[in-house]
Amino acid sequence: MERRSFLKKAGAVGAAGLVGTAVSAPAMAADGPTVRWRLASSFPKSLDTIFGASEILAKRVAELTDGKFQIRCFPGGEIVPGTQVLDAVQNGTVECGHTASYYYVGKNKAFAFDTALPFGLTARQQNAWLYYGGGMQLMREFFAKYGVVNFPGGNTGAQMGGWFRQEVKSLADLKGLKMRIPGLGGEIMSKLGVVPQTIAGGDIYPALEKGTIDATEWVGPYDDEKLGFYKVAKHYYYPGFWEPGPNLSFYVSQKEWAKLPASYKAAFETAAAEANMHMLAEYDAKNPVALVSLLQKGVKLHQFPTDVMQAAQKAAFTLFEEEAAKNADFKKIYTAWKKFRTLQHGWFNLAESKMENFMYANRVK
Ligand code: CA
Repeated sequence: MERRSFLKKAGAVGAAGLVGTAVSAPAMAADGPTVRWRLASSFPKSLDTIFGASEILAKRVAELTDGKFQIRCFPGGEIVPGTQVLDAVQNGTVECGHTASYYYVGKNKAFAFDTALPFGLTARQQNAWLYYGGGMQLMREFFAKYGVVNFPGGNTGAQMGGWFRQEVKSLADLKGLKMRIPGLGGEIMSKLGVVPQTIAGGDIYPALEKGTIDATEWVGPYDDEKLGFYKVAKHYYYPGFWEPGPNLSFYVSQKEWAKLPASYKAAFETAAAEANMHMLAEYDAKNPVALVSLLQKGVKLHQFPTDVMQAAQKAAFTLFEEEAAKNADFKKIYTAWKKFRTLQHGWFNLAESKMENFMYANRVK
């Protein structure tokens, strides 16, 4: 009897508690506005790991707002071409986007800091810089000039150097070589004698097959295997020194961001951080499997010759210094970024890299 009356009492308290809760916390989502955004991605659905980050964002934002805040993701080319996501967010064609900021270095080379610079930061260092090293503040100030609020939105990790029809044994072998490599990487390569080409993803394979180009870079084993480059170019080089840890970004229109309730802003920020973490984890899980598969197909792995790496790093920092001398935005970010990079190298050169180097050189069978 005592137990029964206790349960009855507890039930009454519970019911009252539920009523109380319904009036406070859940009421927020129930009464929150319905928000529907369109997200323009720079990427095709076939790049499932990269495109998938925008789908993770949309799914989690909806879940965190009881379905009130809906984001619909459109692959590159459906609303705007993949390289025009910045413009689409800036001029209000879409409320948000998912892209790589270095696509916009033609407008201002400072965009590259948001993604990657040749010989720049690794994925971990890029996250450290953005979240805790003052990088986000600098990039937000810069993006504000374009009416955009930026969020880290995934990373591939260090990319591969790409596919070459012929072996590159020294710097001299790069002379006159036609390589598909866009952006700052292409600029650095051109200083080493390469003739850089900008070709969209779907057109690379036939160009490489016909010999219109001699080499191409793309992403890493998982994405590269799907495009089949190994069938027409057997020599697979590493590392992709122009992309040591490229960070993708979500862009939100400043105007639309300002309209969001605080809880929706928190949902977006949380979901973006989750998508950021997931992309790198997914690549790190999938790339080694694809690498084994590529090796079974007869792919020959090569490290870029030391003279190529040294000449490329020298060319990269010459380009950065030249740009800093004539571009105030670039100079401001570069000065802070370079200092951060130097500090990171002092630290990562110890525990992290020495542990890894030992284990990879002394593999346990
Ligand atoms: Ca690439």
